[in-house]
Formats: sequence, structure tokens, C-alpha cells
Amino acid sequence: MIESIRCPNCGAIAERHHLAYLAQVKTQCEKCDYLLVMSSRSGQVLESYAPGLPCEPQHINKPIAFRLAAIHTSVGKHS
Ligand SMILES: [Zn+2]
Repeated sequence: MIESIRCPNCGAIAERHHLAYLAQVKTQCEKCDYLLVMSSRSGQVLESYAPGLPCEPQHINKPIAFRLAAIHTSVGKHS
């Protein structure tokens, strides 16, 4: 059984596959590559992948800003 849902990561239409023979529920989004595999018996997450959104600059800019700050600090110490 395949159910259409909203992707919790990007909000696009995603698919939820109910795999009764595996007792698993798999949620996947083609738009952002979001993946979540959950046991339908225990609710335990077996596999999950939630990529950052390319259209949101905050996720990309933050690590670069931290890296630049680290370089400035080390240069300042040596000179
Ligand atoms: Zn998505």
C-alpha cells in the first residue's frame, strides 16, 4: 500500500510505503532524497536520511563561517 503524504523535510509530496511483509513503513521523498524506514510494530527508526535543503542558505553558510573564524584565530596566534 502506497500513501501520499507531505515530506517532513521539504514539504513536497512524498510517498509512504506500508511494507506489511517486513513490518516496516518506509517514507521517501524524491524531491529532497528524504528517507525514513520505521518498524511498524515497535515504531523504532531503522534507517533515516534527511538532507539539508539546497534552497536554504543557513545550512550551508554556518559551517563556512565557523571555518573562517577558526582560520583567523590560528593566524592571530602565530603572528
Ligand atoms: Zn522532501
